[in-house]
Amino acid sequence: MNIIIMGPPGVGKGTQSHRIIEHHNVVHISTGDILRMAIRSGTDLGKKVKSVMDSGDLVSDDLMMELIKDRLNQEDAKKGWLLDGFPRTPKQAEAFVAMLKELNSKVDAVLVMRAPAEEIVRRLAGRITCRSCNEVMNLIGLGGNAPKYCPFCGEHEDNNRHKPALYQRADDAEETVRHRLEVFRKKTLPAAWILEEAYQLHEIDGIGRPADVAQRIESVL
Ligand code: AMP
Repeated sequence: MNIIIMGPPGVGKGTQSHRIIEHHNVVHISTGDILRMAIRSGTDLGKKVKSVMDSGDLVSDDLMMELIKDRLNQEDAKKGWLLDGFPRTPKQAEAFVAMLKELNSKVDAVLVMRAPAEEIVRRLAGRITCRSCNEVMNLIGLGGNAPKYCPFCGEHEDNNRHKPALYQRADDAEETVRHRLEVFRKKTLPAAWILEEAYQLHEIDGIGRPADVAQRIESVL
């Protein structure tokens, strides 16, 4: 099964993606995670994209097409994939549909998660990420304080380098979140409507408990 999950930042794509890959035995391909990993490893790609990502803008279409082609060519992607964070622009969507057609492949479902902007800003203000396993948590659910270790992988605070295990992404600051929401509305939603011309698209209400949202997703998958 090949699935694309789309939605504004903070709508719950990451949480739902973890569930979907377990249930449907597909590989999770998050372009945001791949780029953040490149920044952390200090690769050429990482150096190229850091300032664009921190500002909440989008990385160039050409670079993203190259990145996604490489990733889908890897062996583990053969069993099926869940794309999270790609495509993000009409140009990426068009190029992607053409690329899959050439490979005689297709997308079985496009999920577009929706939630009002104010709810998203509220959620992202408390979002923290583990610098080791990339798991995302919310301070609201942790009593307002970031723990000194990651409850998922056990990564500890690095006292010598004053590096906490859990950090707030630079692009989760409120003003940047508002900018990313606008980028979503202006560029990524139009990309979704392009995908809809080629594949089955389902809008998913992202409001409510993660388990309820998961059920809505399962009922369309
Ligand atoms: P995400 O983790 O999906 O919110 O992505 C974080 C950031 O990575 C975005 O704000 C962009 O700067 C960059 N990014 C991720 N995926 C793409 C894409 N498909 N096209 C352009 N930029 C992307």
